[in-house]
This record gives sequence, C-alpha cells and structure tokens, in this order.
Amino acid sequence: MINRLFCLILLCFLSALPALANNGISQFAPEPLSPTPEMAAQLLQIDGPVHVIRDDSSVPGWSVFEGPNLLGYLGSTWEIAGSVGYSGRPLDVLLAMSPEGRITGVQLMRHDEPILTLGISETAITQYVDGYTGYDLTDTTPGSEGGALPDVISRATVSTGVIRDGILRSARALAVARGIVAGSGVDRINYEPADWDALLAMGAVVGTRVSMSTAADALAGAKVPVLPGDDDFVHLWAGVVDSPTIGRNLLGPQEFARTLAALPTGHSALIVMSTGLQSHRGTDWKRTGIFDRLTIRQQDRDWHPGVAGYRLIRRLAISGSPEIREISLFDMPPTIDPTQPFTLELRATRVARSGDELAMTISLPYDLPSEFHMAPYTPEPLWRQIWVKKKLATGLVAGMLIILTVILFAQDSITRRPRLWRALRLSFLATTFLVLGMVLNGQLSVVQVVAFLHSLLTGFRWETFLIEPVIFLLWSFVALGLLFWGRGVYCGWLCPFGALQEILNAVAQRLGIRQITVPQPLHERLWVLKYSLFVGIVALSFYSMHDALILAEVEPFKTAISMRFVRAWPFVLFVVVILTAGLFIERFYCRYLCPLGAGLAIPAKLKIFDWLHRRPQCGRECRLCETKCTVGAIDSLGRINANECVLCLRCQVIMNDATQCPVLKRRARGATTPPPAPVRVPAPTQPVATDAVAP
Ligand code: SF4
Ligand code: SF4
Repeated sequence: MINRLFCLILLCFLSALPALANNGISQFAPEPLSPTPEMAAQLLQIDGPVHVIRDDSSVPGWSVFEGPNLLGYLGSTWEIAGSVGYSGRPLDVLLAMSPEGRITGVQLMRHDEPILTLGISETAITQYVDGYTGYDLTDTTPGSEGGALPDVISRATVSTGVIRDGILRSARALAVARGIVAGSGVDRINYEPADWDALLAMGAVVGTRVSMSTAADALAGAKVPVLPGDDDFVHLWAGVVDSPTIGRNLLGPQEFARTLAALPTGHSALIVMSTGLQSHRGTDWKRTGIFDRLTIRQQDRDWHPGVAGYRLIRRLAISGSPEIREISLFDMPPTIDPTQPFTLELRATRVARSGDELAMTISLPYDLPSEFHMAPYTPEPLWRQIWVKKKLATGLVAGMLIILTVILFAQDSITRRPRLWRALRLSFLATTFLVLGMVLNGQLSVVQVVAFLHSLLTGFRWETFLIEPVIFLLWSFVALGLLFWGRGVYCGWLCPFGALQEILNAVAQRLGIRQITVPQPLHERLWVLKYSLFVGIVALSFYSMHDALILAEVEPFKTAISMRFVRAWPFVLFVVVILTAGLFIERFYCRYLCPLGAGLAIPAKLKIFDWLHRRPQCGRECRLCETKCTVGAIDSLGRINANECVLCLRCQVIMNDATQCPVLKRRARGATTPPPAPVRVPAPTQPVATDAVAP
C-alpha cells in the first residue's frame, strides 16, 4: 500500500515538474533591480540630485553623474557575478564604487535565503553588508588587500559567504572594466623588444590612410578644394601604450616611464599619430581645451580628448617607423575600457563654397590584442578560504564519518555484542547532537534539497555548496551512503535532531514513561504527512520560494539546532510539542512529519545492498522487533520497510541476543519443537536478507 502511495506521490510530482519548471525558470533569471537616483546618491554618500545612466558594456552596471561629473558606479552581484544563494535563487546585492575604486555602499536588493528571511535580523544583515563600505580595490598591500572584511555570519555561512563572494567578484570586475584598478586590465609588466612593423603586425598599433583623391571626392565643393592625388590626405595611427611592449618600444624607456607615472589611477594612455595634409589636432583645442577633431567611441560612449590629459611627443623611439608629423599622447578616462574594442574617429571639415560646412570622418577601429590584457586578478575562492579556516571542524566530521563507516561495515559483529552496540550508539548519538549539531551546525535540511534541485535548473555551482564544508561533507557522505545503506545512514546516525529525539526517548523510557503504540494501519497512513510535506515544499518552491521556506518551517532544525532555541516563542513551542510527543512515541517527528526524511527515502529505493537480516520466524512466531523498532519500520509480517528504517541496528541486536530473541531462547533451551513448515512470506516492501542461521 505504501509503495503504491509512494509511487503515486512521485508520479504526481514528476508530472507537475515540467510545468513547475517552466513557470519557475522565468523567475530564475530576473532582471537586476535598477537603482533609483535617491538610492544611488545614498550608496555613493552624496547629497544632492544625481542622475543614473545604464551602462550595458561587457561588465554591465550604472554610472552616476552630477551634471557632467562622474560620481561613481553601481553594479549588481546577480548581473555581474551571477550570485546564486543557498536557496538556488538570485542573490542580488547592489554595490556602489567611487571612481577611485573604493566601495562606498552596499545594499541587499533581493534574495530568497531562508536563514536571512526567517533566521537573522534585518539589523544584522545591514551591519554585515555595511562592513564592505570602505573596501579599496586599488589597495594591493600584501596581507591586507583592500582592507578588513566582515566575517561571514556563522549561522548563515552559505548566504553571507555568497554575498561576500558576489560583492568582491563584482566590484573587481567593475573596477577592471571601468579602468579603475591599476593596470586597467592592461598588462603593464611584460616587455618584449619590437619594431614598428612588429607592432603593426600584432595589431598593437593600427593605421588607416586616406589619399588626397579620396578626400577631394568626400569634400567636393569646398571653398578651398582638396587637390586630388596619391599623397596622404592623412595617414593615421593609434594604439594604447600602457603595455611596455607597446609604449616603451614606441616612446623609449624614459618617456614611457614618465607617461605611466603621470597617468591617474584607472586611466590609460592612447597615442595618436598622423602625417599628411590633415592635422589630427588642429588649432581650436588651444582655445576650447578640447580636441574636437578626435572622438573615441566605445559602445554608446563618446569621448573627446581634452587638453588636460594631453602631451605632445616630438618623435618616436621605435625603429622602422615612417616619418610622422604629429604625435599626441592622451590620458583616456576610466569610462573607456582599453581592453575592449573602440574606434578613433578623425573629423576633417572644410567650408563649402555655399558657406556650409563639409565634413568627412575617418574611422580607425582599435582592439588591444589579448596578449596585452592582464590576466584577471583572481583572489583565492571563498570556499577554499573557509575550508582552510574550518580545518578542525572538517577533521571532526571526517572522523565521525569514518567511525560510522566502520560501525556499519562491522555491524554483524557489533550487533552480537549488545553492550558494545548500546555504548557505541549512545555515544555516537550524543556526539551527533552535541558536536555535529550544537557546535558545528551540521544539520541537513529539506531547504538544501530544494536549493540543490533549483541549482540544477539555474546552473549548478560547486562553489555555492562548497562554502559550508560541514554540510558539504555530510551531503557527500549521505549521497554515497544512500546507495549502500539507504536513508538510515543519515537519519539513524548523523541527524542531530533525530539523535536528540532518540536520546530524550531513551531517558523517558528509563524514567518509566509509558510508550504509546500507534496501531499499524494508522501508523502507515500517517506516513502520508511527511511525503506530502516534502512534495509540497519542493513544488511550492517553484512558485514562491518565500512561501516554500515558510512551509519548510515545519522542520524544527533551525529553531532547535541552528538557533539553539533562541527564537520567537511560537517556534520554540512547536519544537517543545514535537519533542514531548517523542517522549511517548519514539522519534515521533521522524515517523510522521519530517520532509527531509521523506526526501531521503525516495533515493533509498536505489539502495544496492541489504545489510539487515531477518529470520523466517520474524512476524510469524515472534513480533518482538516490530514492537521495539525505533521508528516502526517493521510490519506485522516481520518485513523491514527500507523507506522507514533508520538503520539503528536495534532489531539486529535483538535477533542476535539469546536473552531477547525467542528463537534463540528456544534453541538455548534445547527445544524439541520442530521448525515450522516453510511458509511463503509475501514479498517484503524492500527485499531483506534472510538470516542464513538455521532457525
Ligand atoms: S527523519 Fe528527519 S529528523 Fe528524523 S533523523 Fe531523519 S532527517 Fe532527522
Ligand atoms: S530496529 Fe531495525 S528495522 Fe527498525 S529502524 Fe532499527 S534497524 Fe531499522
């Protein structure tokens, strides 16, 4: 019956999944939330009106201006770094950065993080993200790069870790793309001698030529006509000279050093060279301060070089260059990304005979070759830092997992020694509750299952799951253990809340509290609750993660383990009720309510081995194990339901204990009763090995 029910639930869920996924996927890649001008001003710590301009360049974001003055940049961690939280949903943090590369403000815009929604106060989250204010991306002092960073919040390691990772990666990407970080993304270290032709061949310097005849046609009708011919109207060259291989070869070591030293942080240097009739500088710049003949276009940004960042270069140092009449060096502002393609435009104008202006534009596209791009700075991934920091915790968990593996492999010999089993079991459960649960916060949750399913749809990222080493180790072990032993490997031994229930029930039994036996038919019908909760939480998460997280509050883990009962009274009361019920019905919560236990039972169907033994007499002559089973996983025919069994090994101890097992007692008394005639036992819910020992 249970199998049929189980299949029905699974079928309903699987048939609904495509629709759920379709509906959900549209929510998975939402647009980043745009900042308002007020928000931008606040994050950049500026009084007064600002305007915010969207920038859809390679690293998208927003530029904030006050009149013509650039005040800073904004970027979304969801848009730039694709930050996905513990829930598998976008974790969108808006960060503001000054033109000098200092983070001036951070705001959490959107998230579906369970622990942030229901577990941590708004003040704590605000304090945490505010801790990034002041971080300086241009600070490369070893050991203190950027300045101190706030520690991730221990009860929300994954969520706050993802926030941290997203902020740092996005800020760096933004700083590099906007040319703020020293080097502007251009390699300023490597130098190879090269001559003019080599630079042209590499594409480090590009050129274009317009003949007099071409210009004469384009400017036909000019009052002072351009005379046709093969000579140069203009031969124009340009290149970004930040890289020594380009700049030092072109300018010579001294001039190159002076050029770099004069560059403000985040700026890059553009050399423009020309020869021919048409000057690229003209003379108006002396009056206006702007070289209006020249325009740099990059995507939707235009920039005219100004006199402030201009230097006249008299001659090139490179060998093999042609004779060049005009050489200009300009500081390019951070708004032009030298690592991205841009176009240099030279505008040539003439007065027409009619008095109008005739114009022609000479375009020179430029794309700095990739060998001159600096390898992006990649700080050590956060998950690796956390693993190093949590060495002791991971060591303890690894130790527990090794011990458990030994126990499970040696179960046959352990279960023949009831005292050893009891000592091992109680001490392991106590360690699970106290060390794994209360100290290391190693409680798995159905929310992680939901997060995992969502991550499969949105793009699985190991980094997100590696941020919490204890949880990662547990899930890895459980995933493998499910194949060998079923869900019991977690529920029976590694679940802190399960351990707490079992310990409390053991105390209750010691104190003589009478246990309630739930009639088998009702017991089996109550299982529906936990499976329904599991399917409900997963399905709901595709419609509303927030609502799913609220439904997941049916798990008492956050209250009892993560928050150690320091929570609003309704949550605490709920846990107390569950634990009280568990004093009368062993593992009451595991039996009927736990959605995680239900979720783990599904892959338990894949279990390859059966380690638990049964005697032919089980369920027919004797029902002791059935009454003693920790979770009521043995039916009236003596069969073990692998979906329910938590692998406590109690039934195995009983069947090996000559003081408990009636079959062994009878054998010990030398009973002459002949063994029962073979009876065909109906196929068990999950096949179990039948004890090879003669009855
Ligand atoms: S059923 Fe739930 S509470 Fe019980 S041991 Fe398993 S995961 Fe823990
Ligand atoms: S008593 Fe036996 S059947 Fe019951 S949970 Fe423990 S190992 Fe599983």
